[in-house]
Amino acid sequence: MADSPVPGQPPRAVVIGAGIIGMCCALALQRTGHAVTVLDPRPPGSFCSFGNAGQVSPFWATPLGLPGLMPRVPGMLADPLAPLALRWRDLPTLAPWLARFVAASRPRRVAAITAALAGLLGGALAAHRRLADSLGGSRLLVEGGILYVFESAAAARDFAPECALIRRQGIRAEPLTGAAARALEPALADGLHSALFFPDNGHVLDPFALVTRIAAQVEAQGGRLVETAAEDVLLGPRGARAVLTAAGRFPADLVVLAAGALSGPLATRLGADLPLTTQRGYHMTLPRAGVSLGRALVSGDRHFCLTPMTGGLRLAGTVELARFDRPPDWRRAEALVTVARRLLPGLDGRDGSPWMGHRPALPDSLPVIDRAPAAHNVLLALGHGHLGLTLGPVTGDVIADLARDQAPAFDLRPFAATRFRRRAGLDLTAAAV
Ligand SMILES: Cc1cc2nc3c(=O)[nH]c(=O)nc-3n(C[C@H](O)[C@H](O)[C@H](O)COP(=O)(O)OP(=O)(O)OC[C@H]3O[C@@H](n4cnc5c(N)ncnc54)[C@H](O)[C@@H]3O)c2cc1C
Repeated sequence: MADSPVPGQPPRAVVIGAGIIGMCCALALQRTGHAVTVLDPRPPGSFCSFGNAGQVSPFWATPLGLPGLMPRVPGMLADPLAPLALRWRDLPTLAPWLARFVAASRPRRVAAITAALAGLLGGALAAHRRLADSLGGSRLLVEGGILYVFESAAAARDFAPECALIRRQGIRAEPLTGAAARALEPALADGLHSALFFPDNGHVLDPFALVTRIAAQVEAQGGRLVETAAEDVLLGPRGARAVLTAAGRFPADLVVLAAGALSGPLATRLGADLPLTTQRGYHMTLPRAGVSLGRALVSGDRHFCLTPMTGGLRLAGTVELARFDRPPDWRRAEALVTVARRLLPGLDGRDGSPWMGHRPALPDSLPVIDRAPAAHNVLLALGHGHLGLTLGPVTGDVIADLARDQAPAFDLRPFAATRFRRRAGLDLTAAAV
């Protein structure tokens, strides 16, 4: 361990990153008696956690890379309305990540990844409920389930193997006819093929407001939020001693790295050379959508989310693989309105506000929640991909367990930082699951 805490003082935790993950870790570490400082050059929740679809979706235990996806990729890349896009000139940069992604999409790996994710997701909704309670009964969480709708028989058929994997993990899914789905959500179009209702899921009415509420709570409980970037972690013989920034040196007994898609360089410095990339996603929030939904929806045909929020109806999704510094392609946000009209014919698409964000993505769709290989007192909480909002509170709980040297309730090995180290057999996939 690092230098002992100052006698008579609580141990000092420095959290790098004030997104949903970092702020949930900060709040959880206050519960374990740490004096918490959060560093971020941006305001809390203003990066990827700002504009997500707000879905608390523990049903989503399958990885993005599935055996059935690969044959459909060429067609998707040729379709401007498709949920997947690739900036071709970035292919050389992305190729190593894509190779690992394809390797992680083999059936045996997919089954293992799904089991691992289901273990983490199992407590996600309850953790959100506890978080809402700890924020004084925050009304941001809606436990209304998620309705996964299929316009076509083909989409329902394509989802069947994924649904079987999900069900095998004990996740409840109730099949509905198109008419039954429309009875639940009258704004839906006539003639839908079918739907699946996932009851033990929900959504958040404003993901950015949730992070700012957590940040306010952390500060109210004596935590510090400092607007600066972590530049390095000072390591000594007994672990991390301080986090170095342009605003000075922050002494630490514990460091948590939760800098989302930008975690790579610091993770490498801490002994975890991770294939972390950004999966860019878009949203369009329609302030006067003209339709009302009682719960969050997912389109099974076009793979995007529709979530009723305090600021309007949010259409969100798409995976765009491109270098971090490429400008957004706003046509992808506009395309969401076009495809949403097929599901919600009464939709008013005017005055929408578009947004693009960077999902922190590892090729096997599993986050890293682990100790840093180079320092026992540095914890890594990053790479939550398309599930960061869902997994924020439960990740905070696990980090708090690790901070007090307690074993979490489930097997953490699939989330190990070392799982991408190459083995002699040139197996590019993760070794641990
Ligand atoms: C379109 C879209 C829809 C989504 N929908 C959902 C959904 O419905 N449900 C769900 O569960 N998830 C969803 N997600 C995923 C979710 O938003 C992310 O997984 C989550 O926001 C990641 O949180 P984070 O805290 O790891 O990263 P971020 O929110 O990106 O926060 C990282 C923070 O670290 C800071 N940082 C970076 N470098 C440094 C440094 N050197 N020093 C200090 N701070 C630093 C950044 O400024 C940033 O504030 C969606 C994502 C997108 C793009």
